[in-house]
Amino acid sequence: MTDTLGYTKHPDGSWEPIKPLEKGYIYSAGMVTCSRCGKFIRSMGGPMEGCICVHCYIEDLRANKETD
Ligand SMILES: [Zn+2]
Repeated sequence: MTDTLGYTKHPDGSWEPIKPLEKGYIYSAGMVTCSRCGKFIRSMGGPMEGCICVHCYIEDLRANKETD
């Protein structure tokens, strides 16, 4: 399963999918939430800056298409 929970933006402007946590790894206890709508993305592995949920990511793609 490759469920994408959200996306995080790199300094170069590319988006990296945020995946569910895998067992066997150690994660920091930080909540990841959407920086646009505040929606909960993941309970651990944060905090991350500039994360957006899948919904906002799609909205963003749509908005970018309209301005092309
Ligand atoms: Zn969102």
